[in-house]
Amino acid sequence: MAPGNVDARLAGTVNVTNVERSDFFARMAVCDNQNMTVTDTAPSSISTDPETQLVNDALDALLAAHDPKQMDDVAFRGARFDAGLAWVHFAKGDGGMGLRPELNRVVDRRVKAAGAKPTDPSSFFMALAGPTIATHGDDSVKERFLRPMFTGEERWCQLFSEPGAGSDFAGLGCRAERDGDEWIVNGQKVWNTLAHIADFGMLVTRTDPEAPKHKGMTYFALDMRAEGVEVRPLRQITGEAEFNEVYLTDVRVPDACRVGAVGEGWRASLTTLMNERSAIGGGGGGAPRRGGAANDAVQVWEAMDESRKDAATKDRLMHFWVQAEVGRLTNMRASQNARSGNPGPEMSIAKLAYSELNKALYEFCMNLLGADALIGYDYSFRRPEDLDVSGTAHGLRYAFLRVRANSIEGGTSEIMRNILGEQVLGLPGEPRVDKSGPWNEVPRN
Ligand SMILES: Cc1cc2nc3c(=O)[nH]c(=O)nc-3n(C[C@H](O)[C@H](O)[C@H](O)COP(=O)(O)OP(=O)(O)OC[C@H]3O[C@@H](n4cnc5c(N)ncnc54)[C@H](O)[C@@H]3O)c2cc1C
Repeated sequence: MAPGNVDARLAGTVNVTNVERSDFFARMAVCDNQNMTVTDTAPSSISTDPETQLVNDALDALLAAHDPKQMDDVAFRGARFDAGLAWVHFAKGDGGMGLRPELNRVVDRRVKAAGAKPTDPSSFFMALAGPTIATHGDDSVKERFLRPMFTGEERWCQLFSEPGAGSDFAGLGCRAERDGDEWIVNGQKVWNTLAHIADFGMLVTRTDPEAPKHKGMTYFALDMRAEGVEVRPLRQITGEAEFNEVYLTDVRVPDACRVGAVGEGWRASLTTLMNERSAIGGGGGGAPRRGGAANDAVQVWEAMDESRKDAATKDRLMHFWVQAEVGRLTNMRASQNARSGNPGPEMSIAKLAYSELNKALYEFCMNLLGADALIGYDYSFRRPEDLDVSGTAHGLRYAFLRVRANSIEGGTSEIMRNILGEQVLGLPGEPRVDKSGPWNEVPRN
């Protein structure tokens, strides 16, 4: 489709087909300012339905009693949780109201407008651990973990991958053996983002080696300060050590910290993984229209000397912009259509598209910068306390390096394609010889 036609469709009354292409971005800005395009706000069709009314009433009461500008962020988030406005699609008492997930955007928009701080980027894993615990945890687990997770008092990390189990995560070997009311855990995890600042880890273990690999796994909340937990930094291409390897030696985990039934760890893990793909791919709506990697590319273009701006490169930039818009609108539609809280395999579309586009866009930016791209970057060793998956908050050179990981973390692009082929399109599955026999008889290195 020609870019001009796309723009005419998006902008409604603005026809840019005969407009000089150099005016395009200026016109986009005008459209944004006049709200003439599809916006990031919730659609008007939902503004009057009873569920939206319930959310707005709860928000009115919350904001009348608690001014986020005047109070401590933890206290405000606690009040928000108690009002059922943490995750509105969770059950009452679990920080929710049992409503459809799309309405979380109404809450986000209104608390932001009232002056609430944005969610701390170091709390990224709340988007994974929260839904997993809400879906699979028993009442005491939900009561213990959800509130302090939401307030930010307890931060989480993900302890899934192992040296021999990444894409084939269900093949993991970290052992947990029952000992009365506790489990004794031994094994190694790897690539564990922010494990060095986490209070708890989403830990998946092998509890029955004789069962087929998907059946013998059990999921726990691991206290990262328990005896026997050792966190070691792993340095990345960015220079920093955002992730770690985690060694577990005779770590005692109370059975009360089990998430889901014994042997049901695979099911609980799928909830984590689906939510991870959604969180990385922007299932909640993704980057705003004039945000993210596409916007970075436009800014590099705008700052370039006119003599270096040729039509072919501009065409490529337009192509990227349209792809970013298609991704954003697809995510928005998916999040509006979602009836239940947990995303399905179709979120692999968002994850795949986002990862590949981000990598291509920052590569494009580096090419536009030319030799300048090679200078002005600090590779010194750092231990970050936040997570910037998109890289956009830390400059172009960082973003270029950081987004290389997008097509690996949360499941590689090859695995996303497998999921889409098999679970969304219904194509024949890959031959799998290790699915039905006992895990301890599967050949491994
Ligand atoms: C920045 C970053 C942060 C991460 N954070 C975490 C974290 O917090 N917690 C955590 O547990 N893990 C984390 N990971 C690990 C991540 O989930 C794994 O790296 C990923 O699942 C791939 O596993 P692997 O590295 O073992 O590669 P492998 O599984 O060994 O894959 C190697 C290559 O083979 C391909 N491949 C493998 N199987 C297939 C197949 N069936 N079909 C087609 N191709 C295939 C892969 O696509 C890949 O290209 C992180 C990774 C990165 C890069």
